[in-house]
Amino acid sequence: MIETALHENIDSVKLNNLMDAVLHQYQHIINEQDVATLSSENIIEYIVRYYEDIISCMPGNVYWLDKHGIAIGCNKNVLDMFGLKNLAEFKGLTFEAMGRIGQWSVEATQSFKNDTLNVIHTGKPKLNIEEPAIPHHDGRIIYFLTSRVPLFDQTGRVIGVVGISVDISEHKRTQLALEKAKERAEAASHAKSEFLANMSHDVKTPLSGIIGIAELLSARVQGEDREFAHTLLASGRQLLSFFDNCLEVFKLENGDITLLTEIFNLKDVLDEICDLFKPAVRAKELALNIYFHDLMPNYILASRAGIYRTLLNLVGNAVKFTHQGSITISADFIEKNAFGEAKIQLTVKDTGIGIAKNKQKDIFERFTRLIPSYKGTYEGSGIGLYIVQKFVMAMQGEVYVNSEEGMGSEFVVLLPVQIATKKPISSDKNATRILLPQVPYKKLRSAVTEKQAPKILLVEDNTITQWMQSSLLSSIGCQVEVVDSGEKVLEVFEPGKYDLIFMDLGLPGMQGDAVSNYIRKREEGGNVHVPIIALTAHTTESISKHCLTTGMDCVFSKPLLRDQIKQIIDHYL
Ligand code: ADP
Repeated sequence: MIETALHENIDSVKLNNLMDAVLHQYQHIINEQDVATLSSENIIEYIVRYYEDIISCMPGNVYWLDKHGIAIGCNKNVLDMFGLKNLAEFKGLTFEAMGRIGQWSVEATQSFKNDTLNVIHTGKPKLNIEEPAIPHHDGRIIYFLTSRVPLFDQTGRVIGVVGISVDISEHKRTQLALEKAKERAEAASHAKSEFLANMSHDVKTPLSGIIGIAELLSARVQGEDREFAHTLLASGRQLLSFFDNCLEVFKLENGDITLLTEIFNLKDVLDEICDLFKPAVRAKELALNIYFHDLMPNYILASRAGIYRTLLNLVGNAVKFTHQGSITISADFIEKNAFGEAKIQLTVKDTGIGIAKNKQKDIFERFTRLIPSYKGTYEGSGIGLYIVQKFVMAMQGEVYVNSEEGMGSEFVVLLPVQIATKKPISSDKNATRILLPQVPYKKLRSAVTEKQAPKILLVEDNTITQWMQSSLLSSIGCQVEVVDSGEKVLEVFEPGKYDLIFMDLGLPGMQGDAVSNYIRKREEGGNVHVPIIALTAHTTESISKHCLTTGMDCVFSKPLLRDQIKQIIDHYL
């Protein structure tokens, strides 16, 4: 084109002037001695090569095409990618020809062509487009991030397009490897959850049988046999508590426990904890004191469950590791701001065996016990403080210990809370105790309230659990009907027929959630609502939420002990 212009459109005077101007502008790149010997064409060539050399050294792939998408020029990287020796081999290639030489897939060729033509037609650049992967001449697969920019002539018409592609293969490979690793981690986590769910079911179902039968036996037999039954019951409960603690650790580590905030009276929680430990404290002849700061507001917005669990573990330890003296639980008000945000301090202080300074960091590690179980002095699993720490962290608080060996211990929990001006809508003092870590239940009207013996439908497929639960229910004066599948519920259920339903979630065939849905549909339009209590060996936040959405009233972790059954019956009926 330049040559044509030189020969046809420009007369020699103009050409000389033009050359002078060019030489002046490019004097830094053309050797002074060469100037005299170079023809006009040579000078132009000199300059063009100069720029081609610059482009050639540019990193990434640089190429430019005419307004029909036909190749005009490119840098060395593009030639290397195609395995071409020189620019002449690149010039004039169509996308189809490039695709053949480069062994691009049909989709890749089409995608490059479409994007290029789109830039030419719209005159708008397309920036940072992640391109389909293509092979390099050396066998590697390469990934590009490409920007295509239109080239305009002086009148503003598009005369072509320049493409700049950056090789992102390394980054892409890392990203793909990360995605694979994430997929594998998710699959592993899923397998772990499945395993836990299965194990919970497989361990808890027979354990429920053992505990339930031991409870029944303790109530029936006398003398030495009663002692045996008590021991059996205590051992079963200990095993269950250990198992539940382990499950809780797994759930905490899986992020399966989320702490919901609610408005509640902190004093009530402290009283509940005290009531719970009174028998043990009395048996050890200890004093149990509560201090409640004068400025502590009546109601706070915080995680009741989190605070309850924290205190439960700390007071439990204080009772366990103290043999004389006292245990003091204090709730102090530290500070508040104008927005009602406050900081409170909960302290559990004991006069027990204390903890050596150099061991105080270790005790928050999971499964750490300073006095190992084989010494047989104290029961425990070394998980309590780990759980406390996780709960406190989830509540954005902090926990630390002040202690010296033989001098008692003081566990301090600092928590941010919100001061609440209103009372909670309904506060049920016992709800936390019997339901934790399950979902708080709603108080609902049952169909039949006047009858003496409440009619209970027990939906359970495991024969030992069936026998054990129905015996426990009968022993507290309930009339029990047992069915072993969801399908049978459809046969026997009539609205208003039962006062309460215990529903196992994992049934063969139709599952507990679908059965509940069915029951709620049958009740629609009438004014009865039978409380449905879901029972599962593996409670998680998501299972609990799901149960509530399918019409169940609350979720309990198996096994249901006699006291819990009594409290449920009292509460609902
Ligand atoms: P567990 O009590 O089940 O062993 P924890 O995680 O609750 O597990 O406690 C870990 C260890 O910290 C205990 O085994 C005990 O050695 C020590 N510890 C915890 N609380 C106290 C306390 N109040 N007094 C003395 N030692 C304690």
